[in-house]
Amino acid sequence: MPETVSHKHECQAIVVSCMDHRLRSFLRKWTIANISEGFDRVAIAGGVKNLPFVVEQIDLSVKLHNIKEAYLINHGDCGAYGAEGTFEKNKEDLLFAKKILQHKFPRLKIILFYLKLNGEFVKIL
Ligand SMILES: [Zn+2]
Repeated sequence: MPETVSHKHECQAIVVSCMDHRLRSFLRKWTIANISEGFDRVAIAGGVKNLPFVVEQIDLSVKLHNIKEAYLINHGDCGAYGAEGTFEKNKEDLLFAKKILQHKFPRLKIILFYLKLNGEFVKIL
């Protein structure tokens, strides 16, 4: 029997964050409240710290699921960053990731957050 391939599996967004288990419940609540049309999920140590991998995953998400938004979420006290992981450093990396992604995917809306370990999502503009 031939394999049936569905072409109707689009979703609204991709959410990229660190794999850190401390983020999980905050992310779950936040995504339920903010993304209604489904999302792809990438959890990788350091979030956008590994930018080539993140770009590759977003590229697939755009091609396979026609996403409209990418949420990039770095966080406080990130083990992948260690001592260099200040708010300013995370902000800088997130803004750089946005610049690269905006160039590669001009129609994609890129939204940046720094997630504090008290559950506060700080929007990076
Ligand atoms: Zn982390």
